[in-house]
Amino acid sequence: MLTLRGHHLICLHFFSGEGYDARFIENLRDVLKRAEGEEIDIISTADNICTRCPYLEDYKCTYDEKADEEIREMDETALKLLNLTAGQKITWQAVKGYIPDIFHEWHDRYCNECDWKQACEKSDFYQEMERR
Ligand code: SF4
Repeated sequence: MLTLRGHHLICLHFFSGEGYDARFIENLRDVLKRAEGEEIDIISTADNICTRCPYLEDYKCTYDEKADEEIREMDETALKLLNLTAGQKITWQAVKGYIPDIFHEWHDRYCNECDWKQACEKSDFYQEMERR
C-alpha cells in the first residue's frame, strides 16, 4: 500500500517536475500515478517519497541539522489542518478536496520559508490556490 506522511499529503499536490535528483523525481511521478488508483496509508515516519530521498539516513531526514524535527512538526500541523491522523486510510482525491480550505494557513506558515517555493509556484494548482 502507498504510504504518505502528513506534509506530503499537502506539498505533493504542487509537484511541478522538480526534485533533488532524477531518481527522486521519477519516484515522485510514480507515487502520484499510484495515488490516483490506490488508497493511501497515512503514516508519521519516512514514507514512499522519503525512501527514495538522498537525504534519508536511518529513517531520519538529514537535509540539515534541524530538518527531521521540523519535518515532524510540519507533519503534525498538516494532519491537524486536514483533520486526519496517522493510521487512517484516505484517497488522493479526498485529500485534494481539503486543500482549498487549508491552503492559505499552510502557505502563510511554511511556503514563504521553503526552499521549494519556486518549484511549487510553477504548478497550476498552486497558482489557483494563491488566487483564491
Ligand atoms: S512551497 Fe514548500 S511548504 Fe509550500 S507547498 Fe511547496 S513544498 Fe510545501
